[in-house]
Amino acid sequence: MGKATGFLEYQRVENPYRAEQARLRDFDDLHIPQPEAQRRCQASRCMNCGVPFCQSDFGCPLHNLIPEWNDLLYRGQEREALERLLQTAPFPEFTGRVCPALCEKACNLAEEGVTNRDNELYLIERGFAKGWIQPRVPASRSGRRVAVIGSGPAGLAAADLMNRLGHSVTVIERADRPGGLLMYGIPNMKLPKEIVARRIRLMEAEGVSFRLSTEAEPCALSEFDAVILCGGARKPRSLRVEGMDAQGVCFAVDYLSAATWGVLSGGEPAVSARGKHVVVVGGGDTGNDCVGTALRQGCASVTQLEMMPAPPALRTDQNPWPEWPRVLRTDYGQLEAIAVQGMDPRVYETTVKALLTDGQHRLTGAVTVRLDAQHRPMPGTERTLPCELLLIAAGFVGCEERTLSAFGLTADARGRLLPEDGTHRLMGKIFSAGDMRTGQSLVVRALADGRAAAREADAWLRRKDA
Ligand SMILES: Cc1cc2nc3c(=O)[nH]c(=O)nc-3n(C[C@H](O)[C@H](O)[C@H](O)COP(=O)(O)OP(=O)(O)OC[C@H]3O[C@@H](n4cnc5c(N)ncnc54)[C@H](O)[C@@H]3O)c2cc1C
Ligand code: SF4
Repeated sequence: MGKATGFLEYQRVENPYRAEQARLRDFDDLHIPQPEAQRRCQASRCMNCGVPFCQSDFGCPLHNLIPEWNDLLYRGQEREALERLLQTAPFPEFTGRVCPALCEKACNLAEEGVTNRDNELYLIERGFAKGWIQPRVPASRSGRRVAVIGSGPAGLAAADLMNRLGHSVTVIERADRPGGLLMYGIPNMKLPKEIVARRIRLMEAEGVSFRLSTEAEPCALSEFDAVILCGGARKPRSLRVEGMDAQGVCFAVDYLSAATWGVLSGGEPAVSARGKHVVVVGGGDTGNDCVGTALRQGCASVTQLEMMPAPPALRTDQNPWPEWPRVLRTDYGQLEAIAVQGMDPRVYETTVKALLTDGQHRLTGAVTVRLDAQHRPMPGTERTLPCELLLIAAGFVGCEERTLSAFGLTADARGRLLPEDGTHRLMGKIFSAGDMRTGQSLVVRALADGRAAAREADAWLRRKDA
């Protein structure tokens, strides 16, 4: 597979970012795709490992057949490579853009791992451009009707597989556009929304129905033979600080959703960072998306607070390959803040202690405090930051109460709908998948879980038919 000496001859080359000053002027795709010759070169670096960790449990949750499609890509057999990719990957145009590429860190080339994510994106976009991706309508229908609640990656993956297996699938979605966090959450520059819309059009042409702006009601589900709940883990973790109801305090997903709505409609979003001093609470990926979005909206300044200490620059002995490396990364938004503000926006081991407001309860400042190793506030370390917009990106604590109470379901201690036996079937004809079942995770894991739920629901329906 690949070229025996490819990894010795060629350096790893990723799709580069557009320059900060250019990309900050719009919400367009961050990356510049590389030409075919570069992709073939990069695919040739995949080196026929005895044990391909990239497709093991350490690597890709979809168990993508990475060495096989890299080899075909290297040899110029692009259509065959794409077919091989699509055997396990339902939507490579999403994972090729937003996956953290667990496979690349599990690659035997370690920090110089093969650029599987960019290769995957090249193949699927080539497929769309060449017209190889066409609706695949099932040859026959089972006569069974399946409802999928929620159209995030888990719901889309479950719907896609159930449809391919011949069931008639209806996706019920509360939001006005399908995609879950792919649409309203992950910003347009990471995943352009036309890419999500393109996949939805394809699924519709394949026979999947979407009911949008519709809250799932249990009574309306009697028409279905199986129901797969994929409502996400959308209950945000809050801060224990007085004044959280002040004007200018906002949860990250609400802010990012409004920003995407603004990009798509051309209107002014309900919440905007324009001209404001912004403080983001949470040093993770969602916090980084808030930093990048606030800069594009023209904020006056942005600071990102993180409770934990900065991770080490290199792996520690307790975090060996092929585990995911828990090391310091500087993501696109932070790079943009450094370019604009001349300094890293991240402040570690620090949180918000108090909020300052004016006479009309509008946010004017945030008092921050440093934390010791036990996460206790250190007296005398307080600092007041100007702040008219405080974005809470402190993670999620499980699925929402309204969906649980509507369906009469109880989540576990971690807010998940995870059956005790580890399967996807909750009770009767109801199954769960994605973040709702596993807790807050990744797109690729939600896709894998949605497919696993579909396989289980299909087997259950077939047993009933037998
Ligand atoms: C800001 C942000 C950025 C992220 N960036 C990345 C990234 O770059 N890469 C990555 O791998 N992961 C990322 N993630 C995580 C990833 O988006 C999630 O793990 C994934 O979307 C979970 O998929 P899901 O289908 O389980 O749920 P969701 O995507 O949350 O979708 C759930 C859907 O269900 C709908 N719904 C809920 N209840 C009901 C109901 N009762 N009736 C009707 N509809 C309902 C919701 O409206 C929603 O559309 C990010 C998360 C956030 C918050
Ligand atoms: S989905 Fe993610 S982990 Fe799997 S092959 Fe693609 S980039 Fe790698």
